[in-house]
Amino acid sequence: MKPFDTIFSNKKITYSLRQGFGARSRANGTRKHFPLHRSSRVIFPLGKIVSRDFKYFFLQSRKKLMKIIDISWPITENMTEYKDRKTVQLKKIKDVDTDNMFETMITMHSHTGTHIDSPAHFLKNGKTVDQVKLKKLIGPCKVLHLTNVTEKITAQDLEKFDIDVNDVILLKTKNSDLEPTAPFNANFVYLDKTGAEYLASKNIKCVGIDYLGIERNQPEHETHKTLLAKEIFILEGLRLKNVTVTTGIFYCFPLYIKNIDSCPSRVILIEE
Ligand SMILES: [Zn+2]
Repeated sequence: MKPFDTIFSNKKITYSLRQGFGARSRANGTRKHFPLHRSSRVIFPLGKIVSRDFKYFFLQSRKKLMKIIDISWPITENMTEYKDRKTVQLKKIKDVDTDNMFETMITMHSHTGTHIDSPAHFLKNGKTVDQVKLKKLIGPCKVLHLTNVTEKITAQDLEKFDIDVNDVILLKTKNSDLEPTAPFNANFVYLDKTGAEYLASKNIKCVGIDYLGIERNQPEHETHKTLLAKEIFILEGLRLKNVTVTTGIFYCFPLYIKNIDSCPSRVILIEE
């Protein structure tokens, strides 16, 4: 068999999803196809190696068009903050018109918008955010649709779901209906201590909820302490309104700030 670069020279290269690469002869207009295997190297007339697995990659990428859902809370000066504490300031310190550039001084509480709570938030000598391995914040995820829960998520609510070791668990509740700039709602749906104990017993990677706290009405903060003691990290302030899927791939990137308890994070969900 002739090498591809010989076959394709002087011919128009075409690609057919059904038949693979082919070349139409200029002389008689007939078309010839050269099915490629995963190990084939495709060499175009210019002699450039395009890809070892070009056909395989091309077909796979057409099949799997990724849908990325941004589940982060937009940070603005009028956004909802925990107990309406109003800490966010985005102060323009340079302006394009007067200074030839735009720069901003940012001030905010460490628990603003979508953020990770590290063990140091409640536990003496616990890990700070920068010590949390990113692999604990990335991976296959399950979205538990709990929009019918009215006050708190208990172990009983969670038992209905299939939860495995190393899952990332996202709790979608009716909190998701609240606007990102609405006044703080002190009656948000939360994960109670029995729910936290249940998730801890499953050895999940991390758990996220769609409000600015994961618990309330528990003076000893049992939900935080139970999860953080097992290094199950907590994501608060997710925006799950547009999430209809029950599984996906989760990515969380906290800002790389040293020695702090918590910090804002960009969080996405990729639909499979
Ligand atoms: Zn927090």
